[in-house]
Formats: sequence, structure tokens, C-alpha cells
Amino acid sequence: METKKLLDDAGHYLMNTYSRFPVVLRKGRGMKVWSTDGKEYLDFVGGLAVNCLGHCHPKVVIAIQKQAQRLLHISNLYHIEPQIKLARRLVINSFADKVFFCNSGAEANEAAIKLVRKYFREQPVNNRFEIITAINSFHGRTIATLTATGQDKIKSGFEPLLPGFRHVAFNDIEALAAAITGQTCAIMLEPIQGEGGVKMPDESYLRNVRELCDRHGILLILDEVQTGMGRTGKLFAYEHYGVTPDIMTLAKGLGGGAPIGAMLSTARIATAFQPSSHGSTFGGNPLVCAAAMATLDVLLEDDLMLDQCRRMGGYFRKKLEALKEEFPGIIANISGAGLLIGIELTRNAAPVVKACLDRGILINCTAGNILRFMPPLIITEKEIDLLTDILEQVFDRLS
Ligand SMILES: *Cc1c(COP(=O)(O)O)cnc(C)c1O
Repeated sequence: METKKLLDDAGHYLMNTYSRFPVVLRKGRGMKVWSTDGKEYLDFVGGLAVNCLGHCHPKVVIAIQKQAQRLLHISNLYHIEPQIKLARRLVINSFADKVFFCNSGAEANEAAIKLVRKYFREQPVNNRFEIITAINSFHGRTIATLTATGQDKIKSGFEPLLPGFRHVAFNDIEALAAAITGQTCAIMLEPIQGEGGVKMPDESYLRNVRELCDRHGILLILDEVQTGMGRTGKLFAYEHYGVTPDIMTLAKGLGGGAPIGAMLSTARIATAFQPSSHGSTFGGNPLVCAAAMATLDVLLEDDLMLDQCRRMGGYFRKKLEALKEEFPGIIANISGAGLLIGIELTRNAAPVVKACLDRGILINCTAGNILRFMPPLIITEKEIDLLTDILEQVFDRLS
């Protein structure tokens, strides 16, 4: 009854921006969540790569409680202790020298776009403003970031879009080289594409992109909003490929569930931002920075969590490969790194997601025939076995 009322009210009062499952989730612990009608689910969506330490990780919860009692919000007119500490931590653990904090992935990318434009406006010859991004990329939903996004379905209806963006195929270094003009200022890529399938870069692709950037004096922006914070088995995905970007954006897992984004860059590029160039009322607020500090504490503790992510990613992958052997007519392809795994089905994935939901497992379908798994990094073999057993039942029915 209570659930029905909530679902009715959702229909009445919320804008219809998501096609949601008819479930109201109220509580979570670790890998599990519970709905208002008391059903238990195993969560392989992980808040879309946000809940990297699972639900309500005790260290994150305690950090938030303590900070909430001390200071919830104070303006960026003043220095903010947890923000300073978090910036230092991110700089020590990455290529970057400087950090700007915001509240989401789109805002982090928006900040990156503003920073590269400003940086090149201040050069002696200042006619560079164009950013090249990849087809099938995803960079966010604000006007600038949806323009950067390489998917028509996300842009459609919002024209006129922002000038100064071009798109080329991911993994096609020739196409990228050909798209560079005298006006190009940056190349912006996800190291591993997350939408429309989990698309891996070819072995040398990112290194070649880096070289191309250096040769032309262009900046490399890596959007690690999804791949960052340990998701791929390294703290940042660029570490797998022997390249460093000039700018990196983070959000999703950064706050372990608290809404925080960040844009990081080298010192040289960061000088383009001066007081009043950019800002955010909530950006880097004490509460979310305390949550992010606690999340990083756990993620980096003796490398245990990253090691766990690599091992569990390997185990998950092995179990999925076994399913592929068993159901070659259903699973066409498996890809991913660490605990960011996509499987391409030969058919529409929605019925599989629905069947798993009915059996108490949350999984995500990105594009029509793609399943994407982004479980918390605290996952164990037991939960992976539970999922693959259920997938086996579901595929068995389908075949
Ligand atoms: C989710 C995502 C974004 C957008 O993040 P929001 O917090 O939803 O604005 C941007 N880039 C990538 C790669 C993402 O996965």
C-alpha cells in the first residue's frame, strides 16, 4: 500500500526524466539494498559506479556524521579544511598539481572545457577553441557537455548547441589526426567508454593520442568520471596505459555516495583560472569532502581495495566467459577492466534485467543489447556466484 502510494506520487510530482523500475529502495548495507515492500536485492549497479564501497560503508557514514556535527557548509570565500586535505590527497595520488571541486561529472567536464578555452585565449595566438571528442562518448547533460557527448539521442531537441566541438570514432587514431585543425585546443576522451557498451581502447591508442597532442600542442582531457576511483583496478584508468592527461575529471565514486565532482590539471594549465574565472557555491563543501576523504582512506588502505577489485574483476570475468561458452547464441562479447564489465547480447537486454530484478538482483542495461556491471569494489566471490547462477537460469529460459 505504502509502495503503491509512493509510486503514484512519483508519477504525479516528479518530472518524467527516467524510465524507472517500479521499486522504491529505502535502505542499503554493503552489496544489498531493500525496498519499501521489504524485498531484498543484490546490487550490481552500485548507484551507476557511485557506491564504490557498497552501501553505507561504516567509515564513510561516520565521517559524514562527524562532519555534519562540525560544519555542514561554508562558502568558498573562506578556506575549507576537508577540501584542502582532499585536494592534497588527490594530487599526491595522481599526475595532477591542482584541483577544482564541483558537484557532478557534467560540472567537472564543464570546468575542464572552460579551463582549456581560457588557457588558449591567454596564449599570444589565441584562436584555438575547438575540442575533439569521440563518437559514442558520454560527458554529461549540460549544454556544453551534451555538445561534447558523441551521441545524437542525447543532443536531439536541444539545438542550437555550443560551437567548437567535433567528433571522431573512438580508437581511430587516423581519424583523430585528420580532425585536428589550427583551431583545435583539446582532445577529450573517456579512457574506457562506458555507454553503448564497455569499449576498451586499443593497446596503443591512448599513447598515440598523447603523442598527437604533444606534437600539435593540444591538451588531453581524460574523463574519468566513471573509470576513476579504483573502478578498473587502478585508482585512475590512465595508469593502465602509460599516459598522463593534462586534465582529468572525476565524480561518481569520488564521494563514495556523496555528490562531489572534481577537475584536476597540471600547474601550467591551472594558471588560466584566476579568482572569478570559475566557481561553485557547493563545490568542495565540507560534508562531501569529508565523505570523499573517508572513501579514499578505504580505497587506498594498503592497496587492499584495488587488489580486491582486480581479483574480483578477474573472477567475474572468468565466470562470464564460462557463461559465454555455455550460451554462445546469447552472449556475443564480453569486455571491461576491473569491476567495469560489459556484455553484449545477441538480443535485447531488457528482459534479462527484468528477470534478474524479479529474482532479487539489480543489473544495468545501457544500450539495447548491452548489460553493464559496476558492482561495489567490496564484492566477493559468493555474490558473483549468485549473480552468474541466476544469469544461467535466465539465459537457459531464453535459449
Ligand atoms: C556519468 C558520467 C558523466 C556525467 O556525470 P553526472 O554526475 O551525471 O553529471 C560524465 N562522464 C562520464 C564518463 C560519465 O560516466
